[in-house]
Amino acid sequence: MRIEDDSKLDYKDVLIRPKRSTLGSRKDVELEREFTFRNYRSENDEHYRGIPIMASNMDGVGTFEMADSLANMGLFTCLVKNYEADQLIDFFSAEQPLRRANVAYSTGITEQDFEKFTRVYDKTGRQLKYVCVDVANGYSERFSEFIKQLREAYPQIVIIAGNVVTGEMTEELMLSGADIVKVGIGPGSVCTTRIQTGVGFPQLSAVIECSDAAHGLGGHIIADGGCTCPGDLAKAFAAGADFVMLGGMLAGHDEGGGEIITRYYRTGEVIQTDAGWEDQIEERKFVSVYGMSSKAANEKHFGGLKEYRSSEGREIHVPYRGNIENTIQNLLGGVRSTCTYGARD
Ligand code: 5GP
Repeated sequence: MRIEDDSKLDYKDVLIRPKRSTLGSRKDVELEREFTFRNYRSENDEHYRGIPIMASNMDGVGTFEMADSLANMGLFTCLVKNYEADQLIDFFSAEQPLRRANVAYSTGITEQDFEKFTRVYDKTGRQLKYVCVDVANGYSERFSEFIKQLREAYPQIVIIAGNVVTGEMTEELMLSGADIVKVGIGPGSVCTTRIQTGVGFPQLSAVIECSDAAHGLGGHIIADGGCTCPGDLAKAFAAGADFVMLGGMLAGHDEGGGEIITRYYRTGEVIQTDAGWEDQIEERKFVSVYGMSSKAANEKHFGGLKEYRSSEGREIHVPYRGNIENTIQNLLGGVRSTCTYGARD
């Protein structure tokens, strides 16, 4: 075994040092970015333009409703893999240019996955532009092969591929045909990969390393997982991320469609009423969020965990937070504010 003894850091290990700034106010901060992707053969010289923050393809996050709400605000969504082909055909066929520009179809790498994508693409044609090929472990040869096969068959789509955490695999995926590489193994709020397998990489360092590799080839990356507050997004962008993907931070909203669980707690306060002393009870609402390779997800989508697999995700309850719009405003406000402390772009 060889120990790498240079420091490897997570978001929580760093802070952004302020610098003299010419920006007077948060209003002057433009969060929209424009990108031209590396491998995708653009029709009509069409570029990506938007606020490069993405909803993850997790249950309760990457839903159709979330995709439409976020697209209206200029943000991006990777849909969950488990929608049926017909549902996806209906969604992408609608005359909604915002969906083409801001929503990705997500897929695994089996033959059935390829067939399902072909069917949806054939029916929706030009309406579907982004495909997120998502596996827990992006280091298998089979994964790069799938990316090559997809690129050859569909030169006109933008391919997002992940997850990896090192520069050499980022390059390999870009050379196989990916436009955007998704970076992150182990940092997620509902991820237990580090515990179950001992595999992982501190996320800030992974973003620094992979963005450097991708940018050297004219590619882009997504920092996926591990953000717990708006400041973490700012750190991810500062580290070189082109996009930041969020799961837990966007969970618990109406658009995710999860069941709302109500619980009652004693506040510890006791007040006197006509009937005597009464404990004060507080009502709190929660929504369940689970990792996509958790036992809960496997039971929901595959009828249980296969015996040779262990779960690499957990289920947690997050506070129910209503509509997604307020959360996004707060999040964008944080990132805008970061920029007024001296960030250039
Ligand atoms: P978060 O923003 O919640 O910290 O992280 C979201 C990311 O966690 C997702 O985009 C995905 O990459 C990862 N993730 C989601 N479910 C699971 C899971 O069950 N296991 C693992 N290892 N990662 C997961």
